[in-house]
Amino acid sequence: MSQQTRIATVLPYYDRWLKRFPDWSSLARASQATVLRHWEGLGYYRRARFLHDLAKAVLRRPDRQLPSDPLELQKLPGIGDYTAGAIASIAFGMSAPAFDGNVARVLGRLLARHGRTPSLKELKEVAGSLVPQRNPGRHNQALMELGALVCLPKNPLCRQCPLRCVCPSQKKLPPPQKPRPQPTRMEERILVVRRGNSVWLTRQHPQNRWRGLLLLPTTQTIDPKSKARARISYPFTRYLIAASVHILSRPPAGFIGRWFGPPALRKATLPAPHRRALALVKKKPY
Ligand code: SF4
Repeated sequence: MSQQTRIATVLPYYDRWLKRFPDWSSLARASQATVLRHWEGLGYYRRARFLHDLAKAVLRRPDRQLPSDPLELQKLPGIGDYTAGAIASIAFGMSAPAFDGNVARVLGRLLARHGRTPSLKELKEVAGSLVPQRNPGRHNQALMELGALVCLPKNPLCRQCPLRCVCPSQKKLPPPQKPRPQPTRMEERILVVRRGNSVWLTRQHPQNRWRGLLLLPTTQTIDPKSKARARISYPFTRYLIAASVHILSRPPAGFIGRWFGPPALRKATLPAPHRRALALVKKKPY
């Protein structure tokens, strides 16, 4: 949950999630719609689908348990190198590195010589050799937190850093990395199709975005005479979407969907931008 999302945002979702899905079998047995509904608002729904697939994969294992070996973990859905190391070390006490961007930055600055930072491959090897047998999870978390809270990408807080006595970069940082590319701006039209208090929802999106969720129909083009009732913008991967919200009385051609009255609409799993678009043009609380 905390990949790409701040811990403070995650905590209430985490508590609710564990109440609803306290073990692998309750998660595996749930429908995808139920799983996505419990994720609504967190974004990056791919993570929820991976967790759902992971629960099913764990139940197919002979011992119906998550393995502790990092290589075995990486064979499961949604678990890559970093996550495998984090689970193995934090949950099972295995001496495995959890090598993420924060750890790479800390080690890169610590090991920089004459302005040259070791390659990622070299840093990863060093990260692996540093993990102790005792409390490997605590070691990994300390390194990740140091990168996240002290050895910041732009202005590291070297005066507060416990490694400042051995760090050659504290006064002279290696040249900053290339700035992140600006997001590509994209326009779209979000259609709120209304009949009384009911709203028509589909599962189709032109770019297959938000697979498995219920959606307001979305299109790139619309009758130029149709007036926008509201405008919203939101980030999606490397795009910044500028969307105008339009009201229709009939479903658009080419979409498959159905009507939802207020109670069903409240329970439906909609992506946060669509929930926001709906709220902006609402007549009564949905
Ligand atoms: S001394 Fe500064 S640059 Fe070096 S690891 Fe600490 S925060 Fe990062």
